[in-house]
Amino acid sequence: MVGPLALRRAEKYGFCAGVRIADRTVRKLASEGRRGKILGQLVHNERVVSDLVQLGFATAASLEEVRAGTIVFSAHGVPPSFHRRALERGLLVVDTTCPFVYDVHEEARQALEAGFHAVFIGDSAHREVIGYTRDLDPGDYDIVQTTADVDRIDFGRHPKVKIFYQTTLNSEEYEDVALAVEGAAAHAERADTICYATKENQDAARDLAADPEVDCIVVVGGRHSANTRHLWEICRAAQPRSYLVHGTDDLRADWFADCGGVGITAGASTPDSMIEEVEGAIRSLAASPAPASGPLAAPEAAL
Ligand code: SF4
Repeated sequence: MVGPLALRRAEKYGFCAGVRIADRTVRKLASEGRRGKILGQLVHNERVVSDLVQLGFATAASLEEVRAGTIVFSAHGVPPSFHRRALERGLLVVDTTCPFVYDVHEEARQALEAGFHAVFIGDSAHREVIGYTRDLDPGDYDIVQTTADVDRIDFGRHPKVKIFYQTTLNSEEYEDVALAVEGAAAHAERADTICYATKENQDAARDLAADPEVDCIVVVGGRHSANTRHLWEICRAAQPRSYLVHGTDDLRADWFADCGGVGITAGASTPDSMIEEVEGAIRSLAASPAPASGPLAAPEAAL
């Protein structure tokens, strides 16, 4: 280690505002003695899911699984019909859908009423996109992720098109897809409903990786979190000593042996408690006696 270790967190990292509010809402319900089920994972993080199970809020894969009591709709929202179906089943709904997600629902509804064909840029399997599209006539929308997907749409049948983005994407990374839609459709507009939470985390990771005082970066996130892995890729492009960890057990003392500054960032599904644990463990490792020499672990070794 060169001098005392300085830890620097990215300017933006971890939960977006929508997920933070949803997480707090469920924890508050649990503190009041309430129990229930969450429709789909609140976030893609094993630790959070297991914490919430301990608190009495297990994940349900479908509405049908929930026979009675409270059902929580997560920040990414549900198809509008799910509210009616839940009430018909006598369930008490706690709706933590993010207001930005509701904005997309509303703008899509208005666009369809105005005769637009909706094009959603996103993952058709993501719950947020399912929420936007499940109740719609399949002829009224398309879901695309690539320009090849756009090429498959017959825009001759859709004179007016409105483009929407899954909020957990950085829309800038899908500019080629949006441009392809605009190039193919006679008239195309982009919805004014972009959430910048993902872009802010990514921009902050880039800044961290470019910081000359940061010698290595630890990216914290769930094992199956695609956006955490993407953050790690962004960091690694500018700072080769970027390591992806899923918890304190993945950390290695030799990563920090000659580091003056360690940057920390975290995926959108990583709770603050996990980030704090990792930060504390890095301090302990850096303060411990110098590790045996040997090749530094490749970042992939932590996966
Ligand atoms: S990514 Fe943005 S829109 Fe989506 S839940 Fe988070 S804050 Fe809300």
